[in-house]
Amino acid sequence: MNWSDGTRCVHAGESTVTGGPLLAGPVFAAPYRLGDGDYYYGRADNPTWRAFESALAELDGGQCVLFSSGMAAITAMLRTLLEPGSVLVLPADGYYLVRGYVREELAGLDLRIREVATADDWSGAVRGAHLVLLETPSNPGLDVCDIAAVAEAAHAEGALLAVDNTTATPLGQRPLSLGADVVLSSDTKAVAGHSDVVLGHVSTRDGRLAERLRSARTMGGAVPGPFEAWLAHRGLGTLDLRLRRQADNAAALYDMLRGQASVRGLRWPGSELDPGHRVAAGQMRRFGGVLSFQLPSAQVVHAVLENSRVLADATSFGGLHSTLDRRARWGDPVHEGFVRLSAGCEDTEDLVDDLRAALRASNL
Ligand SMILES: *Cc1c(COP(=O)(O)O)cnc(C)c1O
Repeated sequence: MNWSDGTRCVHAGESTVTGGPLLAGPVFAAPYRLGDGDYYYGRADNPTWRAFESALAELDGGQCVLFSSGMAAITAMLRTLLEPGSVLVLPADGYYLVRGYVREELAGLDLRIREVATADDWSGAVRGAHLVLLETPSNPGLDVCDIAAVAEAAHAEGALLAVDNTTATPLGQRPLSLGADVVLSSDTKAVAGHSDVVLGHVSTRDGRLAERLRSARTMGGAVPGPFEAWLAHRGLGTLDLRLRRQADNAAALYDMLRGQASVRGLRWPGSELDPGHRVAAGQMRRFGGVLSFQLPSAQVVHAVLENSRVLADATSFGGLHSTLDRRARWGDPVHEGFVRLSAGCEDTEDLVDDLRAALRASNL
């Protein structure tokens, strides 16, 4: 299909049953009536999951397995693909819980773990690897790396490449088309987009791997609720619109923040001035609304939040509401004044004026 993003989002996974709704409502079932149907028990399968999975599969270009959170998706993938003694290469600056999970929960596997900064050269680090995980743009630092180049280096070593695509979204980047074997996403963020559900998924073109992941989900039991899957599918319909506004807002905030003496290390890969822009522009189809930068101290971040009427002091990103998150409080290895700003869907001028005024009121 040659449809553009807006059309794809609206129609992905839609129902075409005559006399039925345009998007089928959630199906709530633990046991199903047995017979010729596809379903027998709610931990194994659900038609509302399938509709949303088919939407995500279409956007990712693979087969999709839905999980109850981004972490459930990532950890099921790790447990499925890793064996005792496997060499795992991870981003040093990616989502913090992934490093924690591997160190604490997978300690018994005696993995050989290598951490590489996203913007560094990965070619040597993938030597002898079994599984390589990338996150580009990385959360929270928004560094980028070349997916196709790492895929080639990883495949030459016989390793699989998985890409956490949460920050980019399936509209921003299609890792499976760039050579990745697995794409992971926390759909809690921009995909569901309304800050009201926790969900995640894995997509792959390898049908056997998708089957193993489905089986891991059924046996592990970390299954999504049908209502959450339906809410996220409903949210997906406006992903194109939301990302457009968020990216416009991020671009305008970038221009305003660039002129502020107290703001350091401003990052947004969508800007031509960003150090990651060349690589990002080479593999991304569009950019989202997440920026990062550093303010002088934790107290200053607190003051800016107090003085802002728009920005919520909240974690996560990709929702309708603009949020500001001081990442050191979660244990990210960053400066105490480092923040991730998620530009929401407010009007651009209101958002830029609000943050400019909040910085001024904080004596910055
Ligand atoms: C939020 C996030 C996760 C974890 O997802 P949950 O849905 O919160 O479990 C994983 N990776 C990245 C990049 C994230 O931003």
